[in-house]
Amino acid sequence: MQQEKFFIDEVYMNQLLNQAKQVSDAEIERILDKADRFEGLQHEEVAALLMAEKPEHWDRIFRIAGKIKEHIYGERVVLFAPLYVSDYCVNKCEYCGFNCDNQFERRQLTMDEIRKEVEILEKMGHKRLAIEAGEDPKNCPIEYILECIRTIYDMKFENGEIRRANVNIAATTVENYKKLLDIGIGTYILFQETYHKETYERVHVAGPKKNYRYHTTAFDRAMEAGIEDVGGGVLFGLYDYRFEVLGLMLHNEHLEEMFGVGFHTISVPRICDADGVDRVRYKYAVDDESFKKIVAIIRLAVPFTGMIISTRETAEMRAELIKMGISQVSAASSVEVGGYAMREKKGSQFSVADERSAKEVIYWLMDEGLIPSFCTACYRKCRTGDRFMSLAKSGNIKNVCLPNALMTLKEYTLDYGDPVFNEKAEAIIADKVRNIENDKIQALVLENLARMDAGERDLYI
Ligand code: SF4
Ligand code: SF4
Repeated sequence: MQQEKFFIDEVYMNQLLNQAKQVSDAEIERILDKADRFEGLQHEEVAALLMAEKPEHWDRIFRIAGKIKEHIYGERVVLFAPLYVSDYCVNKCEYCGFNCDNQFERRQLTMDEIRKEVEILEKMGHKRLAIEAGEDPKNCPIEYILECIRTIYDMKFENGEIRRANVNIAATTVENYKKLLDIGIGTYILFQETYHKETYERVHVAGPKKNYRYHTTAFDRAMEAGIEDVGGGVLFGLYDYRFEVLGLMLHNEHLEEMFGVGFHTISVPRICDADGVDRVRYKYAVDDESFKKIVAIIRLAVPFTGMIISTRETAEMRAELIKMGISQVSAASSVEVGGYAMREKKGSQFSVADERSAKEVIYWLMDEGLIPSFCTACYRKCRTGDRFMSLAKSGNIKNVCLPNALMTLKEYTLDYGDPVFNEKAEAIIADKVRNIENDKIQALVLENLARMDAGERDLYI
């Protein structure tokens, strides 16, 4: 019996990357013209760019990535924070500090501890979290995750509240994804780690995560359950980055074909030092130059998919990557269970390169000419899945992102600002509002800013 064709076809991918070495300059220029019109790229076209060698082609790729970023996302950069709730894990993932071979005292937050963590995050101004947990059906069942989400949504500290809880937990069943949907998660995030099966099976030494096919089809089950926003990602450095980017593109096209919508976001972590992980062992570790190429090519290929970078990267690297495609960054992250309360160093999942406070990150973004945003509007306005994508593709998303960014920044000044910070932020808000072209939107923003001064919160369009 013939085996069903899988959407990740290694032989085909290698062939495509090999053939891409022969692609003519004229064809590269045609592909770049297409990207320049914000039309996105097919995976075959992405393969051609991944194999491009000429500096003039790369110059143009970086220029177009910057143009797409500016045109579609404008100046706003959305902020979020991870919240590690449990580091129990039954898997042996070679690259991860939580791997079950690592000996440290594991823990899971009680609901009181969750409230404490969330209080600290709310005091920083955060409105959007990514809940993170290792895989352990006994110590960390789906019911525990659901209870965490309920606790997080219920927790209000002064004017603070978490308005969107994204969830990054292990691949699971349709039934469990339905439970996550019903409780109101934002995006379901799951990193593929690597699309290369042999590498996948090697680095996932033991545990349920070792099952490549079950892991790779997790988004199919999530979407079958009705979750519309899924966030993919690769841990760059496990295998050749060209293969991985092509894998991401094929995965995205598969979801589009099956469910009408691809990745809502793509995260781009890369191998870094963590307890028990030694980077020099990874021969595919990605250098800074190649990392920029990865971000730029993904930006060209899927212009409407949000791109996320974590505090694994330094401030300098984050600044460069934001210019060429990153639309969301984490701020003041702790990558430990209970870490916001204790900031312990023991047992962290990976090391943090950018250790600035949330306010420092916000200052820095403003200094870079960007607008920090705590916006969560789309999900709460039901702009998810293909409704989000059609708004994004029409080019109109910027018309809501900017006003929402300005309104959340205003909210931040009122609740967490100080005189020096507020002077700077208010000047930016006034300037940007003045330049909103649509009169109706401008009037609405002005009205909402005044309503916030009068005490209202959580206004968005
Ligand atoms: Fe567990 Fe996830 Fe770490 Fe693997 S990557 S050891 S599943 S926490
Ligand atoms: Fe994101 Fe939508 Fe807010 Fe824009 S308006 S920042 S796309 S949630």
